[in-house]
Amino acid sequence: MSISDKIKNLLTKAETGGNLTREDIVALLKLPGDYSPALFAAADRVRKEQMGDEIFLRGIIEFSNYCERNCLYCGLRKSNDKLSRYRMTDDEIINTAQEIKNSRISTVVLQSGEDFFYSTGKICRLIEQIKNETDLIITLSIGERSASDFQSFQQAGANRYLLKHETASAELYKYIRPGCQLDKRMQCLHSLKHLGFETGTGNMAGLPGQTHEILADDLLVMKILDADMLGIGPFIAHPDTPFAGIENDDIEMTLRVLAIARLLTRNTNIPATTALATLHPQGRLLALQAGANVVMPDFTPEIYKIRYDIYPGRTDVGSAAEIISQLEKDFQSIGRTLLYSPGNRPGK
Ligand code: SAH
Ligand code: SF4
Repeated sequence: MSISDKIKNLLTKAETGGNLTREDIVALLKLPGDYSPALFAAADRVRKEQMGDEIFLRGIIEFSNYCERNCLYCGLRKSNDKLSRYRMTDDEIINTAQEIKNSRISTVVLQSGEDFFYSTGKICRLIEQIKNETDLIITLSIGERSASDFQSFQQAGANRYLLKHETASAELYKYIRPGCQLDKRMQCLHSLKHLGFETGTGNMAGLPGQTHEILADDLLVMKILDADMLGIGPFIAHPDTPFAGIENDDIEMTLRVLAIARLLTRNTNIPATTALATLHPQGRLLALQAGANVVMPDFTPEIYKIRYDIYPGRTDVGSAAEIISQLEKDFQSIGRTLLYSPGNRPGK
């Protein structure tokens, strides 16, 4: 069989839901560049068949940039003393949630550094208040907590949780997240799944020391966990971190990982991440045509948004209304429409 026939067979196997092996995934990641359009088109067809043409919106509030961790890649790391820290007040958080509600978006993502100023009780009260006043679906993305904390958050009314595994290599994980262990992260993810949260994991593409094999393992983690949401973004070097000056990959590899994630997991919710939009002016639209079906507009008030500096050059400046009207125009240009429904994973 010629090489091109082998590649065509592999793409067909991926598109028709055949069980991809680790070797198959590595081969897809390593495909010659001229096969990218075929890979992205296959993922786009599976997205359409499984999820339809609508783009689901999630409004995100980055309510605190304090963090106890020292991840080598992230601008919020504890040792970055150039960063001016903030915590939004409860009123500011509730008002922003109200703004999301007023924009007809039905779900809010509350994100922060690992900030233990927010005790379990404090997070629960916040969840209850948002639920009472807005009835939004609540997603948390506040880092690692105990299984009993997760349960309390759920009882208070949280439905979804995002906790990217970041990298499936235990060695690389330990290096880029000093003092942390991949096992512990995976335990959190299993607890969340077990409790019945719609659970999101994901990775960064382009980390120093990352190989195609590690990326294939990332994809297998997503599949084996049966994650409901997948955050897949490019690593972007931040000047005030130990990873300053490391060259960012182009977005090609991130888009490949995203496309393979769609082919492998079929009916998951996959955002076109802000990090992709930051690295390339068309990053968001390219992702939406390579398997992604979700966009997460940032509603954090302008004065704080610029200080939520996980990586440099984050886009989406302007008011939420401006951002959404721009998104609407962009999406129409590729034949897609915005949907304001909750956007659960099908079957959930
Ligand atoms: N503290 C929480 C949530 C905030 S960080 C946590 O770590 O889970 C949210 C995401 O930002 C992380 O999952 C990580 O993938 C991403 N991130 C951080 N620094 C980044 C960088 N330099 N480039 C790209 N993504 C980054
Ligand atoms: Fe903190 Fe999350 Fe950044 Fe790590 S990635 S430093 S845990 S905000």
